[in-house]
Amino acid sequence: MELLNRKAIKRFEAAQSEAALFDFDELTVIKTVKTLYKRLASDNRKMFLDLAQAVYDETDPHGDEEPDETWLLAFLEEYNPVTRYVYQHEIDRKRDYTAEGVNSSKDKAKEFRRGLMYWSRMTEQYCLDVSDAATLKAFKDAGVKRVMWNTQGDDSVCDECKARDGKIYPIDKVPPKVHFGDRCYFTAVMD
Ligand SMILES: [Zn+2]
Repeated sequence: MELLNRKAIKRFEAAQSEAALFDFDELTVIKTVKTLYKRLASDNRKMFLDLAQAVYDETDPHGDEEPDETWLLAFLEEYNPVTRYVYQHEIDRKRDYTAEGVNSSKDKAKEFRRGLMYWSRMTEQYCLDVSDAATLKAFKDAGVKRVMWNTQGDDSVCDECKARDGKIYPIDKVPPKVHFGDRCYFTAVMD
């Protein structure tokens, strides 16, 4: 995650310098930002897939249908009740928002920084969501029917999460995570 963030920082810096070369000409900004988000999205896809496969393999028990690119793309096309958007749509929205911001604001650097901040926040959340989805897939593939909701058990667990601690759900009816950055996790209930 940290490595990915460093990569995103570099990508934003490079795009900003490139747009600056052309004195932030409007069409250049649109083109540069478009390329920027295409690269960011590609970095994320690779990382999410590696993450999903690693989580799947580490999950006990797990089946033998490791998440592949098709699985990941289907997941990223789904509505996410925590973020309240579809990832694949949101990346386009973020791209347009950054391009418009840079084109309409005097403080170009600030707009690039803002874009990076939103991108990092989304990426961080999707690392959690992709991990959860991979865990549940691993359980399902292994024939697990029910899972237990667990909090991290520390002082920063919120009341809503605490109320779910130890609850058992049918694997197809696990409720969505409660909030951004929710670090609760699932364990298999063996019948
Ligand atoms: Zn939680």
